[in-house]
Formats: sequence, C-alpha cells, structure tokens
Amino acid sequence: MPQELLLQVTPEIAANQEQLKNHISKQIQVSANAIQQVVVLKRSVDARQKAIKINLKVAVYLKGDFFEATKFQLPDYPNVATAQEVVVVGAGPAGLFAALQLIELGLKPIVLERGKEVRGRRRDLKAINVDHIVHEDSNYCFGEGGAGTYSDGKLYTRSKKRGDVTRILELLVAYGATPDILVEAHPHIGTNKLPQIIQDIRQKILACGGQVLFETRVTDILIKNNEVQGVVTHQGDTILANKMILATGHSARDIYQLLDTKKIFIEAKPFALGVRAEHSQALIDQIQYSCDYRGELLPPAPYSIVKQVGGRGMYSFCMCPGGVIAPCATSPGEVVTNGWSPSKRDQPTANSGIVIELRLEDFKPFAKFGALAGMEFQKSIEQKAWQLAGESQRVPAQRMIDFTQGKVSSSIPKTSYVPGTTSVEMGQVFPGFLTQILREGFSEFGKSMKGYLTNEAILHAPESRTSSPVRIPRDPISYEHLQIKGLYPCGEGAGYAGGIISAAIDGEKCALMVGECLRQKNMQ
Ligand code: FAD
Repeated sequence: MPQELLLQVTPEIAANQEQLKNHISKQIQVSANAIQQVVVLKRSVDARQKAIKINLKVAVYLKGDFFEATKFQLPDYPNVATAQEVVVVGAGPAGLFAALQLIELGLKPIVLERGKEVRGRRRDLKAINVDHIVHEDSNYCFGEGGAGTYSDGKLYTRSKKRGDVTRILELLVAYGATPDILVEAHPHIGTNKLPQIIQDIRQKILACGGQVLFETRVTDILIKNNEVQGVVTHQGDTILANKMILATGHSARDIYQLLDTKKIFIEAKPFALGVRAEHSQALIDQIQYSCDYRGELLPPAPYSIVKQVGGRGMYSFCMCPGGVIAPCATSPGEVVTNGWSPSKRDQPTANSGIVIELRLEDFKPFAKFGALAGMEFQKSIEQKAWQLAGESQRVPAQRMIDFTQGKVSSSIPKTSYVPGTTSVEMGQVFPGFLTQILREGFSEFGKSMKGYLTNEAILHAPESRTSSPVRIPRDPISYEHLQIKGLYPCGEGAGYAGGIISAAIDGEKCALMVGECLRQKNMQ
C-alpha cells in the first residue's frame, strides 16, 4: 500500500521528481533509492507568504509495493442504433454529457445543434473578430461544444458533490484531456485542446449509433395534452420524440421567447453583470506572488476577489490568466465580452469579468416583458454598448482610474480584444446604480490588491452573459418541467448550472432521470 503524505515544498522541488524523492526520503526516513514512485494526487500554489510554496498530496510507493499507473478508460458503451430515441437540444457540455449518459443507459440520443461542428465554427469566429459579422447560429456561444469550446476551459465548480465532479473529470481524461486536471486544485484545459476532446465525444456518440445533427436549430416544440411530442427544426422538419432534454444554454433567447409565447412556464432569474477588466499578466503576477518576475516554475497567477459594495456582491468572474478577451455577441446589433486562454496561458494579458449581482427588482423598467424582463434588461445594455462604441463589434472601453473618476480616457492602448475598442465613459453604458457600485468597487479592490487599481488596466463593456436571465423550472425529483411532461430543462440555460463541469453534471442527471422515467413506464 502506498503511503499518502501532505507536503509543502518549494516550486523547484515540486517541479523535479528526483528532488521530490529526496525531500520525501528525508521526511519518511528511508533512502531515496527505496522509493519506487511518487504520484502527485493534488497540487495547489500557496502564495500567501513571500516565499511561495506548493502544497502537494502525494502517494509514495516503496520498492516492493504494487504500482500500476492509473488508466482512465471509457465506459462500455452499448450500440443504441435501434434503441428508444431521446431528443437532446444543444451540443454544449450539458447536451453532450446527457447524450453519453443516455447511451450508457441503452437509449439513442438525437442531438440537435443550431451551430456548426467545431472546425467549421472557427471561420465564423474569425468573421466576428476581423469582419465584425455576427453569425446568429455560429459564434462563441453557439456551435459544437457550446459556450465552453473556445474558453479558458476552467474546470472548477462550486458543486459540493465531489464524486460527480471526479466522474466528469475522469471522463474528460478518457476523451483526451491531460490527467493533470485530476490533480490541480484549479484545473483548466485551454481553447487549443478543447475542440479535439469535443470532436472525440461526438465520434463516440456516432460510433454507438447516436445521431448529431449540426446547423439544425429547433424552432418549435410540439406539445399535446401537456406532453412533449417532438420538435420542429428551422428547415421545417419534424422529429418525433416524447422525451426531450432541452440544453440550449444561457444565450438562446429565441428558445425563451418560444417558451413564453407557448405559455410554457418560465420565470425571470437574477444574474450578474458588469465589465471585463484587462491587466498585464506581469502585474497580476507581481500582485499575487509578491515578486518582480514570476519565473519559469510558477503558473501565470489567477485572482479571485469578492467585495460587498452598496449592499451587493461585486466579484471577479471567469478570470483568464494569460488570456484574451473575446467578442461573444450572438446577434448583430449587440456587443458582449468574455474571455479565453490557451492551455499554456501564455498570452501577456490577464482578464476577468468584474460583475455585480443583480436582483429581480432591477428589471422593473422591463416588467412588461414578464418572465423575460431580465433578458430584455441584459439585451438593452448590450445594444447600448454597441451603439456607443460605433455600431460594430468594437466595445466601449475606459481606463480603470478614469472610470472611477468619471473621466473619458484620452487614449486606450491596444488590448487583447481583437475587434477593437472605443473610448467611452462607461457611466453611459450602465444604469446609474451599477455605475456607482462599479466605481466604488474598483477603489475597494485596489485596497485589497495593491496595484490592481491602475490606469494601465482597461475596462471593456459589457460582461453580461454570466448566467441565465431566465429559469425553466423543473420538478426537483423527476427533473421534468413543472407543467410539460417529457420536457427536461437542463444545464445553464435552464438555470441549473454555471460552468462547464456543473453543466456536464446536470446533463448526466437529466439523462438518468429520463432513463428512470422510461424504466418505470416499462414496468407498468
Ligand atoms: P451551452 O454551452 O451554452 O450550450 C448550449 C448549446 O445549445 C449551444 O451549442 C447552442 O448552439 C445550442 N442551441 C441553442 N439554441 C438552440 C436551438 N434552438 N436549437 C439547437 N441548438 C441550440 N465555463 C467554465 O466552467 N470555465 C471556463 O473557463 C469558461 N469560459 C468561458 C468562456 C467563454 C468565451 C464563454 C462564452 C463561456 C465560458 N464558460 C466557462 C461558461 C460555459 O461555457 C458554460 O457555463 C457552459 O458551456 C454551459 O453549458 P450548457 O451545455 O448548459 O450550455
């Protein structure tokens, strides 16, 4: 049996197997030669003191102990080509993991995705960045892999159910992600690696007899006696099914509109909104690691900050060390920011959403839209930003101290946001209460993170797609929609997930609930 140890070591020791063995040999008082293998089980950076340490949990195998490197294998998926069909709308993490789970249960998923397969999607991302053209079905939010495909691929979640998280991480490793994601306290995959993993998941669904139809937007849901009968696609095709997992993400406004028009119960949901701040990565490293230069052994530093300002939470969201700010609009006439990083996080800039929690009462000016009030509030800010920045994919931008002082910046340096920026006083983008909180909040952030409040940092607006502005309510036990049988609202768009991992977990759960419902029906 290996011995498990908790260690705190220098970055040099953590990076070198031999040095690590020597360190451990002294600690457990055996010769370094007696140690067969050291397996790192968990790794995190402890930057609380000037001398940065790496916290490790390791398993030490002595010579004579049985050691075998863990292999992560795919489940034994059956062929489901002739099995009962279940429609899955959306090929984001929720939809894809729902499809895989359905196959494990012996059911045939038919995945309908409005966007293109991962490679075709790239051309449309170039069109947004370079030509300012937003394709309404293929963009940073829509297409194979969903909103997370061209992201930082951060894989942490607030989910307390470690077993569920570990299962998703192990499946990702089996589909080609680096096993490091099982070890790091804050794992991430990176934009360059995610597309291949997603393609391999699709290939597996197809190889097992499932279907994945791209460029197939669902435009209607067929319902009879409050029970799902199937869907209609934008080509006018009808696909019949009485079980449907709806995993369309937080940006599918047409789906919310459809549900509202059909009087299918949905409700407004609070979300968060603000700006995306960009600093140089070197400055964030200096602040977080209290050093002049990070060196080769430490990862580009992330940050996470929360403050109560004016009675509301203001916090960093989806922070991307060594990353790039992306244009994430899903329709012409609006601008939206978010961020991504390559796996090495080796870009010179660090960006993060800095957002404020909204409340349902903030949506009052849009009350006439009922359950869609929050969505219309969100849309109005995105459209205002588009107008103010010049009616293209350029975004309003302002230097951070200038913003806190309500001063238009006389110049905006080039930032990582490829379509470009227009110098705008951000107070014009947001309602007064949001501007006020953001101004105070940045001053507070500057007190906690010395150097953070600087005119070298550039704010981009808006960061508005933090989570869904609408909830599609479901029964907490059966996961079926409260009113429509056979409809399983799923993932971030339904208001039951926030991020890649929690969306994947929710996808699996919805599939399990579909399986359970069918099992009970078959027993009757
Ligand atoms: P989505 O991923 O949004 O997938 C929904 C899918 O449904 C889309 O592919 C869409 O095209 C499709 N669809 C919508 N309407 C229809 C329709 N009518 N018919 C057919 N198909 C439809 N999360 C993290 O955890 N870590 C990160 O580092 C991270 N970075 C991000 C960076 C960016 C740039 C963005 C945009 C998001 C990022 N996120 C990140 C958030 C994360 O991507 C989402 O939380 C997650 O993808 C939600 O999964 P989902 O499956 O519920 O929905």
